[in-house]
Amino acid sequence: MISTQDITKKFGDNTVLKNITATIGQGEVVAVIGPSGSGKSTFLRCLNLLEQPSSGKVWFQDQEITNSKINKMEIRKNIGMVFQHFHLFPHMTVLENVTYAPIKVKKLKREQANEVGKELLAKVGLTDKEASYPNRLSGGQKQRVAIARALAMDPDVMLFDEPTSALDPEMVKEVLDVMKDLTQTGMTMVVVTHEMNFAREVADRIMFLDDGKLMEEGEPESFFMKPKTERAKDFLDKVL
Ligand code: ADP
Ligand code: MG
Repeated sequence: MISTQDITKKFGDNTVLKNITATIGQGEVVAVIGPSGSGKSTFLRCLNLLEQPSSGKVWFQDQEITNSKINKMEIRKNIGMVFQHFHLFPHMTVLENVTYAPIKVKKLKREQANEVGKELLAKVGLTDKEASYPNRLSGGQKQRVAIARALAMDPDVMLFDEPTSALDPEMVKEVLDVMKDLTQTGMTMVVVTHEMNFAREVADRIMFLDDGKLMEEGEPESFFMKPKTERAKDFLDKVL
């Protein structure tokens, strides 16, 4: 579905991604973990070209999207993204948040977009909130709206950047549960997370980043039980 070939990202003199080569298969759920500042968000943002890699290539489906002729908007239509801080449109109702892009970008008729939007809100357990404004919602509810909004574009891949890190503890589960349901639909997902239990239970594969490098990757059981690198061992000692 997505692959990166030797991608590097520099901000000025600071090299924050160092030669990352990775493949994310169709239907795969990959958890990206690692210390703060290790490049997880930058890596994720390179996958949908919110950041342009300084060198190397990114492939999405059969296209090399780092090619300068690529239409980034066209690519992003197919890649949903959910951020730590929700990024909802504050002046729109929940349903309007969810239907905005399908109407604007996909040119869906409002009635049709509403129908899809309501279905998605039901899936994330927010049917009763469709007419509310974001400032009336809890963090967990906001994040579930953000997930429904990303899904409304019917993407082929969903990227999550620490979707539960800004939530009060009692709201983490409701968001993780929605994400877990999503894995059951066969969605391809890349999830940057500090929720180790979630990564362990739900991911097909773990990618561990440290200092801009893909230090190791593997199935959750082997990664958590027998990390291969000292860096991963240290990290797991601190977080588990
Ligand atoms: P993580 O998500 O693992 O915490 P990030 O990808 O956010 O790490 O950041 C990796 C490094 O890149 C950090 O040193 C950060 O300061 C730097 N960085 C990230 N985004 C930018 C930017 N837009 N401009 C300059 N430096 C950045
Ligand atoms: Mg980050």
